[in-house]
Amino acid sequence: MADHDSPGGGRARRPDPADRAQLRESPVSLRRVAALFAPYRLPLVALTVLIVAASTIGLASPFLLRLVIDEALPHQDITLLLWAVGGILAVTVVTAVLGVIQTLLSTTVGQRVMHTLRTDVFRHLQRQSLAFFTRTRGGEVQSRLINDVGGMQSVVTSTATAVASNVTTVVGTAVAMAVLSWRLSLLSVVVLPPAIWLTRRVALLRRDITTQRQRHLADLHGQVEEGLSVSGVLLGKTLGTGPLASAHFERSSHDLVGLEVRSQLAGRWRMATMNILFAAIPAVIYLAAGFPATSGGMTIGTLVAFTGLQAGLFRPLMSLLNVGVEVTSSMALFSRIFGYLDLPVEIDEPAAPVALDPREVVGEVRFEKVGFRYDAEGPDVLDDVSLVVAPGSTLALVGETGSGKTTLAALVARLHDPTAGRVSIDGIDVRDLELGTLARIVGVVSQESYLLHTTIRENLRYAKPEATDAEIERAARAAQIHELIAALPQGYDTVVGSRGHRFSGGEKQRIALARTLLRDPRVLVLDEATSALDNETERAVQAAIDVVARGRTVITIAHRLSTIREADQIAVLHRGRVAELGDHASLLRRGGRYARLDGTAATLAA
Ligand code: ADP
Repeated sequence: MADHDSPGGGRARRPDPADRAQLRESPVSLRRVAALFAPYRLPLVALTVLIVAASTIGLASPFLLRLVIDEALPHQDITLLLWAVGGILAVTVVTAVLGVIQTLLSTTVGQRVMHTLRTDVFRHLQRQSLAFFTRTRGGEVQSRLINDVGGMQSVVTSTATAVASNVTTVVGTAVAMAVLSWRLSLLSVVVLPPAIWLTRRVALLRRDITTQRQRHLADLHGQVEEGLSVSGVLLGKTLGTGPLASAHFERSSHDLVGLEVRSQLAGRWRMATMNILFAAIPAVIYLAAGFPATSGGMTIGTLVAFTGLQAGLFRPLMSLLNVGVEVTSSMALFSRIFGYLDLPVEIDEPAAPVALDPREVVGEVRFEKVGFRYDAEGPDVLDDVSLVVAPGSTLALVGETGSGKTTLAALVARLHDPTAGRVSIDGIDVRDLELGTLARIVGVVSQESYLLHTTIRENLRYAKPEATDAEIERAARAAQIHELIAALPQGYDTVVGSRGHRFSGGEKQRIALARTLLRDPRVLVLDEATSALDNETERAVQAAIDVVARGRTVITIAHRLSTIREADQIAVLHRGRVAELGDHASLLRRGGRYARLDGTAATLAA
């Protein structure tokens, strides 16, 4: 019989308002969901057949039981008894095996669909612009991919198969009950609904209390963590709020007492209700069976079979009451995933790319009346910027924080697209180049050089998968980092990152420079580290940059005086506009903004 601890009632759910809101905002077309499953039509049909078969075969047991009680036992018919008991065993074994196959099919289909979605979402999100990732809250994208797509599995395996099997069980059982005794079936129709209603109410109540209790418990834990940590205690002591925190804690703890009691009682009540119902409903049936008017002259075997069937009806009926909620949450899941898949790709491949061999690029970079806004309604971050960087020359971008240096440099690598004007390389608009080609022409070394959590060798090879070890070493030498790597116990096989060797900022930047060297880009965009490096590191980084910059067009967001001095051109940005342009000497002579900046830098450097 149904186990009394979790007879379906424990899973009673209330709809999640967030799911509803999600669906209201972006409804999901069923056709689109169906299309995901279309390739698996065959296994899905097989799955349905299996579910129906398993539920139907399961119904044979009560009839066999009736045979045992009414025929085999009273008449001492051993042969019949053996057959009937064998049948009961066979039914259990067959339904169990069918269940295993059912799980295999549903999990396989679920996982395949999940795999497709996961891959699609990953690919699509990777194509999103940098702006998308700076806009989205950290971790949200990752959680979307892992949790929402992961939730798919339960949609297919639990929701869909549970609905199918519960519906067939309920229908089959109802028919079988009617066949056994239509009078008692009518009685069930009267008795069952209130019993199920009561069970569900109790289960929902208990769920609410449990949720409330968990929230309070988490709050209490938070208070302990906050109130008894070094910084929390320090804050409490300096603000004199210690007693207040204690009082607050006492109140929360006191509230929890009541909640815990209610929660325990609710659990107990739920069990009690279930036990009472599971005893009472058959009792009512036995009673009815005693009266000729309701029994219709039924045998004992029929009565036992009937009560057995009826008990088996409880659980599927209970879970069918959750179908609405489950469908809503599944659809909300799809809605969220589709939402990601439907995001427009802001920076995409050109429709008709201009063919260009990266090796033949000369490297002239032009900004032509470039304007940029992060936000359509926001302020101009760049406004009417026109600059020409001759092949092989260096342009240093200077200006106070927020003047637009980073943004301007990012336009060359198409990390953003200008909202006005254009950026060209050798006269070709960067938007007309294939993204892969552009990436081979323009190399970017940012301040925060990102290294993958793998060996140094793999980090370098990431830039050029076919690079030989000799090439890698040559690049590292040029970037002034070979000696350091070679001195490590594991050399180039040292693992980088939190669980490996921790490199300093300057070292990381040099590894990044080596990585860029391997790609041999004609145009280099550099973001010098703002944080002060010690003299020796600074010299090493500078030497590395000098080697890497040789013969390339370099656009550098400069902070170091030495870099700025030696640049062929210096563009002083102010509020997104080029305020001054020239080389160090001429700008100094002008005695304007640059001269003042230089004064500050000189003081800082001193
Ligand atoms: P700089 O490199 O000179 O410090 P940036 O190019 O980083 O300047 O920033 C220029 C302006 O654009 C600043 O006002 C900054 O607040 C704004 N900005 C930078 N990044 C974003 C972003 N992702 N979204 C919105 N505004 C941004």
